[in-house]
Amino acid sequence: MKMNHHYEEISQSYLFSTVAKKAADFQKKYPDREMIKLSIGDVTLPLAGAVIKALHGAVDEMGKAETFRGYGPEQGYAFLQEAIAKYYAGHGVQLDPNEIFVSDGAKSDLGNILDLFDQDNVVLVPDPVYPVYVDTNVMAGRKVLYAPANEENGFLPMPDDSVKADIIYLCSPNNPTGAVYTREQLAQWVAYARKNDAILLFDAAYECFVTDPALPRSIFEIEGAKECAIEFCSFSKIAGFTGTRCGYTVVPMAIEREGMSPNKMWLRRQTTKFNGVPYIVQRGAAAVFTEDGMAEIQHNLDYYRANAKVIAGALDECGVWYCGGKNSPYIWMKCPGGMDSWTFFDWLLETTGVVGTPGVGFGSCGEGFFRLTAFGNAEKTKIAAERVKNAILSLNK
Ligand code: PLP
Repeated sequence: MKMNHHYEEISQSYLFSTVAKKAADFQKKYPDREMIKLSIGDVTLPLAGAVIKALHGAVDEMGKAETFRGYGPEQGYAFLQEAIAKYYAGHGVQLDPNEIFVSDGAKSDLGNILDLFDQDNVVLVPDPVYPVYVDTNVMAGRKVLYAPANEENGFLPMPDDSVKADIIYLCSPNNPTGAVYTREQLAQWVAYARKNDAILLFDAAYECFVTDPALPRSIFEIEGAKECAIEFCSFSKIAGFTGTRCGYTVVPMAIEREGMSPNKMWLRRQTTKFNGVPYIVQRGAAAVFTEDGMAEIQHNLDYYRANAKVIAGALDECGVWYCGGKNSPYIWMKCPGGMDSWTFFDWLLETTGVVGTPGVGFGSCGEGFFRLTAFGNAEKTKIAAERVKNAILSLNK
């Protein structure tokens, strides 16, 4: 027998384990100093009351013979597909519910979608990037090219006609950089994909953070995208479902490549390899789109947005370059004094007790940058932002 040796090629991600170890060492060395984590990528606020009520209701249904549910449709219950379609219609995107596939989260779908594509395709990912895009392709033995993101392009790489790619990952609002593509920029990616017969895999996991109506929340707001894009989205960030698990993928009927329909292929793939998301969880997810659910969820999102504003404000006061922080829970800052990402991490932790994430951990173009997140407690975020500001200002004295 032969093993998949591509697993030996996956770069070992020491990022979060190293961050955790350094944070633990700090607490051991200074038991009396308060450490604050601005490194959390997970949400911290509990599920909305409307979601909890719907979950309880569904649990009760499962306990009665008349309302008990066994296997459901693999692609999701119609009530949830229709609720998602209505949500998209709210920002001007018309979808057929059969284009929406409910799953246990965006991460699974981002990996599983690769079943649809031949191994010989060339993959293009931005650098820095959410590591799942790279690792899933390396595991499958695919060649990965990088589109460099940097201060000059505002961490929003644009298509380069001299690069031929077949599968292109875009994430907007971006993790880790917080940068958000404009409609005009996404239109250029759609034009590139159509010209090159490529498919865009658009990760919209953070779309709920977009408040500026001029910015797109979905790739399908761009004309022609339904012929060249697949969109991944999640209840994780909009509604705190990181532990509850629910997401969805939009595969338009209109895409076709080599006479094959990715929509039909994904349905076939999901019905073969996946048995659906629990009915209880889907009822909870549908409650997100009710009037009460949306109101509570906006309240939670505003809490995180206020944190982002506090961090961004502190960086403004000390003149540090950053992107994100608006329309995004992530703030991507340039390390002051020409420090590299890990030097700044160590210096910031030692000086202030604040933990962030070194940008280089997301790709070589992240070197010299640092990610701060807005998912923490509001009071602690204020204290941390003040400490970061004062420490950076002291550098210039
Ligand atoms: N996509 C991006 C860009 C993310 O940052 C994350 C999680 O942090 C995910 C997808 C995963 O989403 P889910 O919880 O739905 O698997």
